[in-house]
Amino acid sequence: MKILFRNGLLFDGTTLSCEKTDILTEDGIISRIGKGIDDEGANEVYNLSGLILSPGFIDLHCHLRDPGQEWREDLLSGSRAGAAGGFSTLVCMPNTDPPVDNAALIRYLLEKGEECEGSRILPSGCLSRERAGKTLAEMGKMAIAGAVIFTDDGSPVSDTNLLRLALLYSSRLGVRVMEHPEDRSLTSGAQVNDGICSTFSGLKGWPSSAEASDIFRGVSLSMDTGVPIHFTHVSAKESINAVRIAKASDCKVTCDVTPHHLCLDESMVIGSGYDGVFKVTPPLRSASDTDALWEGIRDGTVDAIATDHAPYHLDEKDLPFQESSFGIASLECAVAAVLDEWKRRKEPCPLERLLSLFTSGPARLLPEKWRTLGLIAAGSPADLTVIDPAFEQTVDVSKWKSKARLTPWNGRTLRGWPVMTVVRGKIAYSLIDRVSGGK
Ligand SMILES: [Zn+2]
Repeated sequence: MKILFRNGLLFDGTTLSCEKTDILTEDGIISRIGKGIDDEGANEVYNLSGLILSPGFIDLHCHLRDPGQEWREDLLSGSRAGAAGGFSTLVCMPNTDPPVDNAALIRYLLEKGEECEGSRILPSGCLSRERAGKTLAEMGKMAIAGAVIFTDDGSPVSDTNLLRLALLYSSRLGVRVMEHPEDRSLTSGAQVNDGICSTFSGLKGWPSSAEASDIFRGVSLSMDTGVPIHFTHVSAKESINAVRIAKASDCKVTCDVTPHHLCLDESMVIGSGYDGVFKVTPPLRSASDTDALWEGIRDGTVDAIATDHAPYHLDEKDLPFQESSFGIASLECAVAAVLDEWKRRKEPCPLERLLSLFTSGPARLLPEKWRTLGLIAAGSPADLTVIDPAFEQTVDVSKWKSKARLTPWNGRTLRGWPVMTVVRGKIAYSLIDRVSGGK
């Protein structure tokens, strides 16, 4: 199977070119990159004039709820939703039922993921057995089976010795530890950001220090062991500062931020009259926290943008604020939301910096064998995302491939959308018509 993509503006994972480039893929691999590639023998030809041709976007953090919570999402719906959102790769979180804490479940996810027609599914494994935070899970066996990250996401690893041991093991396995930064002693019973949102409502506040203090702890373990640690869904100014200071001291720390913390803030929770659709862990923060995340993107403190797509059934989410579940579903509009916000903020960083946080940035955090997913190079897997920076579309959650039916962006018109997703050399999602004449 040969597909020719013509006249795209090439983003190779680092640099965005303003010259038109062609890419030929053959049997799932990028075989040629250049100008004026002959369409002789191509089964399909697409004209990407005015569109950005990028390595496939990678979501380092999403909840596909499989096994055990398939009424919220499953691998098939999640994989299709991912492709529709521009993601060629999804790393699914292991806080399922049962938790993914053994090699058999890693193999289950990889095998079932292979059968899905959308995004490539890469599983993460629990750091602790049964995700209970007491003893290490079988990290070695899971790494061999194909786990790409170790995390107890949904919960922090509160036992510091366990986190230190996990770091030591992970470095030998070449698989990174991802910490969900939260000090539970500070967040028990908390519902919203500690600030105006908690003051206005009387709901218990979730302080920034609950996140930053766990990051300081993890940084000190990383410094002690020399092993990399990754912090996910970093939301507060203090946390970004902590990561920035650690990086300046050559600590091997990395972090990701979410589209909702980049685009939404606590004023919207208040403005909505405390609608549960805005309820999430960590909570939506202040506008100055949101500004700090964008500054972290601009200056290189942030390594990736990851959705933390957390789908729930309507019955679990459409409830009074205190009863609603924590989590925002965004897979199918996350990229558009970020591109729209970037434009709205008058382009606070170069576009190629933003694109790298969906591609080469997250790819660098995966085990060695997956790092070529974040680049466009001859011989790399043909995972591609095509972006139309000018395309405007209104989010309509009723049409989502995801099982989620609530998102804060529903009804919003966003500018800048993924319009095609290619996975393993196959068109997994496309709004672009084939050029006639392709064979
Ligand atoms: Zn989390």
